[in-house]
Amino acid sequence: MAPTAKSSEYDYIVIGGGSGGSGAARRAAGWYGAKTLLVENGKSGGTCVTAVPPKMTWNFASVNEILKSAHNYFYDVPHNIKFHFDKFKKKRDDSILRLNRGYEANWNREGIDLVHGTATFTAQKDIEHILVATGGVPLTPDIEGQEHGITSDGFFEMEHLPKKMAIVGAGYIGVEMAGMLNAIGVEVHMFIRGQTFLRSFDPMIQETLTKAYEDAGVIIHKGYKGFKLIERLDQSSTPAVGPSPHKQLRITDNEGQSFDFDEILWATGRTPQLKDLNVEVPVIKSGHIAVDDFQNTNTEGIYALGDVTGQAELTPVGTVGLTEPQAVEKYGKENVKVYSTKFTAMFFDVFPAEKKAKHPMQYKIVCVGADEKVAGLHILGEGSGEMLQGFGVAIKMGATKAQFDSCVAIHPTSAEEIVTMR
Ligand SMILES: Cc1cc2nc3c(=O)[nH]c(=O)nc-3n(C[C@H](O)[C@H](O)[C@H](O)COP(=O)(O)OP(=O)(O)OC[C@H]3O[C@@H](n4cnc5c(N)ncnc54)[C@H](O)[C@@H]3O)c2cc1C
Repeated sequence: MAPTAKSSEYDYIVIGGGSGGSGAARRAAGWYGAKTLLVENGKSGGTCVTAVPPKMTWNFASVNEILKSAHNYFYDVPHNIKFHFDKFKKKRDDSILRLNRGYEANWNREGIDLVHGTATFTAQKDIEHILVATGGVPLTPDIEGQEHGITSDGFFEMEHLPKKMAIVGAGYIGVEMAGMLNAIGVEVHMFIRGQTFLRSFDPMIQETLTKAYEDAGVIIHKGYKGFKLIERLDQSSTPAVGPSPHKQLRITDNEGQSFDFDEILWATGRTPQLKDLNVEVPVIKSGHIAVDDFQNTNTEGIYALGDVTGQAELTPVGTVGLTEPQAVEKYGKENVKVYSTKFTAMFFDVFPAEKKAKHPMQYKIVCVGADEKVAGLHILGEGSGEMLQGFGVAIKMGATKAQFDSCVAIHPTSAEEIVTMR
């Protein structure tokens, strides 16, 4: 039996209970008193909740990194540091479950009716306000045997760490996962088409981070031209697809070369989730639902928000505004001035020189016009994510380089470099 709503009349229907849909439903119901129905066919909280496991895993890997480098601060730490990935995974799963429940508790508190099911547009639109916030799903390449690999969804189901893993893709998801796995001892091979990863980021970040990853031991296969076959070699009783401790995979690339791995992660992009919606009315542009600045689609009363619109740009590494090439293209080279700096964060000062180099800190400010309005800020290194939030506000308010400079530098911090760059 199809799930049904409590009522047959609503002011507002939201399709998708991820961060976009949930935020919109809560504002409509909580702030404006709209009678709201939310339809969700997966886990409450959507992908936003699955963005938490990477952060937790990142922290897990960071602890290992700190322990491995503790001898630089004259701590006696055994060489062979043991950790219990299975216990950590259980803790992480529990946190996710708590988050899923937290979303539902908030919706319930705000009087939002929830239907667990798949929403589909039918021919007749008899509701005035519908929000499509169905997010995105991972894309996998069309290669024979691709189903033997996993995507970011499968990554967080892994019960055991592979010894040797291939990561295909040069975007933020592949880069983030490669860094974490490398830090906890997995032999990571990245396959990327170009010479650097994170191609939508400022060249400074691309070049510095790619090199830092290589220095840290990630094996990067540059100029990747595609695979033609993935074979599963193990004959175990474990499921034929998805993560397993016994997987043995052989990849053959388009040039006939073969590589063996325990796991393959497809980090080859995401696409809007439009599958079950049966959308014909809102305009689909390059696979996304096209919207204006106020989230209107071309059909009155139907709105779209979040990843399904292709508007969301994520910045897990540290970036605000325009890259240098983007600023030059938009304003002309003569109107762009760039400030940059490279330094060692205090934490790494006690490390031997060759190890210091493995932890680059590099910042760049991109300014435009005679008043040097800050159009872009790109920072790489420890603490970047936390640091950038406040600078993001200043840049949105139209801050100039002179205003950055007039701010008292908080010493000794890494952030002070941003207001002392000359
Ligand atoms: C591995 C990974 C790491 C990430 N890390 C970060 C990060 O560090 N920082 C950051 O800001 N962002 C991160 N993101 C991105 C972030 O999670 C998304 O941008 C955000 O969740 C998009 O929100 P949304 O509401 O558009 O879609 P989603 O959160 O994807 O929600 C869409 C919901 O709609 C439901 N749905 C789909 N179709 C239907 C239907 N027909 N009927 C009913 N329900 C439906 C889905 O089940 C889903 O729950 C990450 C994403 C991934 C995959």
